[in-house]
Amino acid sequence: MISEKMWELGTKSSVIREIFEYGKKRKAEIGADNVFDFSLGNPSIPAPQKVKEAYMKLISETDPVILHGYTSAAGDMGVREKIAEHIRNKFGCMADAANIYMTCGAAAALMATLRAVVNAGDEVVVLAPYFPEYTVFIESAGATQRTVKSREPDFQIDTDAFEAALNKKTKAVIINSPNNPTGAVLSEETIKNLSEILLKKQKEYGNEIYIIADEPYRELAYGAEVPYIPNYYDNTIVCYSYSKSLSLPGDRIGYVFVSPKTADAKNVFAAVCGAGRSLGYVCAPALAQLVVGECVDEVADISAYKENRDLLYNSLISYGYDAVKPEGAFYLFVKSPCRDATEFCERAKKYEILFVPSDSFGYEGYVRISYCVARETIEKSLPAFKALMEEYIGA
Ligand code: PLP
Repeated sequence: MISEKMWELGTKSSVIREIFEYGKKRKAEIGADNVFDFSLGNPSIPAPQKVKEAYMKLISETDPVILHGYTSAAGDMGVREKIAEHIRNKFGCMADAANIYMTCGAAAALMATLRAVVNAGDEVVVLAPYFPEYTVFIESAGATQRTVKSREPDFQIDTDAFEAALNKKTKAVIINSPNNPTGAVLSEETIKNLSEILLKKQKEYGNEIYIIADEPYRELAYGAEVPYIPNYYDNTIVCYSYSKSLSLPGDRIGYVFVSPKTADAKNVFAAVCGAGRSLGYVCAPALAQLVVGECVDEVADISAYKENRDLLYNSLISYGYDAVKPEGAFYLFVKSPCRDATEFCERAKKYEILFVPSDSFGYEGYVRISYCVARETIEKSLPAFKALMEEYIGA
């Protein structure tokens, strides 16, 4: 008898994936240019030139034993040192290589972190709308998810609802800013309020409560400041990824950073190492580690995303859509003109527009439009978006 739970996870694909697969089928039928696929968050801009050069140089000049060999379980020490230096320089906070654990992206970082800090029966707070894999990771770690709806219309944290959701079992809260799916950036005021509440509750319950900062979109901000959480709250564990910042999602590289100010940081980090070991996550791909080590200060040129955001947002608003202008990531969160967002997505398919209902993100009444696509796709899709909204305005 196999695990029913794992079988379920392996066979029931997410709504996002289903829409993406539908898009692939439709592209084969009517031509890729005629399908406006805004379903997935797959970066469309190339990795910086320096990444390409680092790959070429490393491949041609590095001893294969190093290039393709095992690194230490937590990652190559030289790379971790460069990342720690980058964190110190950029954010002015304490960081040490001894607190950095290299992973296959943010997904593995989140899973290792959750497994490291929770015990069976603990609760982890997530703020809706949220990245749907959080539920999978939290449950796999043996904890229970407690969901708090974000405040509308700006999708900052509803601090009253957040405080009310905390209890003695609360072990962690996952925050994600810039956010998937809303594009919201949590303000400094929000982070300060969040920290204050957590400090008060830690004292009241006599437990540590960790902020798990899921940061794959940190560098994708279009002017807004993205507060660095370890500078505001001591018990912070950052889950970082180069998937979006360097446009390297397939290279599977990121890290866990346990802030040295975390209570008992050394043992928390040891638990992250133990979690990595128990999950079989040791030794992230050596070549990808070495490449990001050479490119710690690089960011992909995100100006194309900003242009896409402006074009799509301004056009949709002019057609009568309702959305909050995203400050980061590459998603536009648009209010569904009918109550059922899934019905809206189905109607959009008639116009060959593919986006995903917010129900997939634990939130009703919106759709997520991923604008990390070629600008021409957006330009060509605009008449279809206009005609789609006219169906509702005319109704
Ligand atoms: N967290 C969020 C909010 C994401 O949107 C994603 C991927 O899209 C991840 C984590 C996982 O990222 P990675 O590719 O680094 O595993």
